[in-house]
Amino acid sequence: MPKHWEEELWIFSGITAIAGLAGLLTGQLLPCLLSGLLAYLGWHVYQLAGLLQRLRHNKHAAGRALGLWKAVNNALLEQKTAGHARVRELSYQLDRFRDTVNSLPDAVAILGQQQRVDWSNPAAGRLLGIDWPDVTGQPLTGLVKDPLLNEYLADGKFSQPLVVTSPKNRAIILSLFVAPLKREGNRQLLVARDITREYHLDITRRDFVANVSHELRTPLTVIAGLAEQLALDSSDTGMLQRSIELVQQQAERMTVLVSDLLTLSRLEMQHESSHDDSVAVPELLATIAEEAVALSGEAQHVVQLDLESQNGLRGDAGELRTAFTNLVANAIRHTPGGAEVRIRWQVDGNGAHFSITDTGEGIAARHIPRLTERLYRVDASRSRDTGGTGLGLAIVKRVLDHHDAELEISSRVGSGSTFTCHFPAERIIPLPG
Ligand code: ADP
Repeated sequence: MPKHWEEELWIFSGITAIAGLAGLLTGQLLPCLLSGLLAYLGWHVYQLAGLLQRLRHNKHAAGRALGLWKAVNNALLEQKTAGHARVRELSYQLDRFRDTVNSLPDAVAILGQQQRVDWSNPAAGRLLGIDWPDVTGQPLTGLVKDPLLNEYLADGKFSQPLVVTSPKNRAIILSLFVAPLKREGNRQLLVARDITREYHLDITRRDFVANVSHELRTPLTVIAGLAEQLALDSSDTGMLQRSIELVQQQAERMTVLVSDLLTLSRLEMQHESSHDDSVAVPELLATIAEEAVALSGEAQHVVQLDLESQNGLRGDAGELRTAFTNLVANAIRHTPGGAEVRIRWQVDGNGAHFSITDTGEGIAARHIPRLTERLYRVDASRSRDTGGTGLGLAIVKRVLDHHDAELEISSRVGSGSTFTCHFPAERIIPLPG
């Protein structure tokens, strides 16, 4: 038997026994038993009143409760304690949810009746200008005065997200969607995400595909035209010879373009170079300088090599060779024959520096920030004539990114340019000998 029942039984038996004994002694058994029962009832009423009092005043001490009342008190106390723990747990979960949503980079807002703002996170202020709690209860359409967004909200067709510029900052592109909150009547959840980077990447990618197609189509058109001409008349041996040379030239151009594209795509697929070689830069530059003389050929550029340091670099030998060769080849291609091109390697307190200075045509300041874009050329037809693909500096930029290095370009139209690659001190290594 549970303890409280046992206790209750003892109380009842005690009262009955005392009343019975008093009845036997006084010869008034029935009235005494009735008085005993009344006392027992009175004690219960007293306990009930005590419990009511405690519940009213939110106290939960069992006090002098006995028997069943003690059990009732304890059960209530347990329930109350469990209730408190649940409230604490729920408020912790709510705080955690709020913290999470508040630290999200995406704008989140809850819209009530007529799309009035019920709640929003700080990102909604930054991206949409919805500054909660100041705007609580205001209709979203009045806050975000964007016709596209208002049309989207009014339409109620939210199967596709809407791409709009941020009303707070026109440079930010947002992807926004609204979802109904099923358990919350007419309430809606609005989420807006900053997709500026992806948006521009997508445009760049589309432009790039269009430009590459154009670059490849030009030599193909030439080759197809020549083949057509030769199919009609191939008796003229002089023309046949010229045509073959032209086809060779165009095929070579396509090969160089495809090879540069492959190099660039390989570099872009990795975030850092896969090799960690000890690159003997002075030796490498001596070879590149010799190759520059060969490339210049009859143009007879004066290639000057200033090796002011005998240190090398930690990095990918193949990638560094490609980058330096591209810069040197550009200098030769954009400098008139006989003029000087200077290759320099130095180390100072700021790191290691490879630079190539030419005395060529130079570049107007407005082009400089765009030179490392893929297929960007100051003068496309001139670049093609000199065998350029427009990918060289994009390749250089990716190689330098892999080596934590920066490219600096300084130039003056008519007097020449200097391209400098700045490598951090951590990459410098002493070379044996
Ligand atoms: P390209 O293959 O056309 O040379 P790059 O990416 O190497 O492509 O260079 C992009 C453009 O930068 C070139 O088309 C050219 O207009 C300009 N450029 C690069 N290097 C030089 C230089 N040393 N002097 C003048 N212009 C240069």
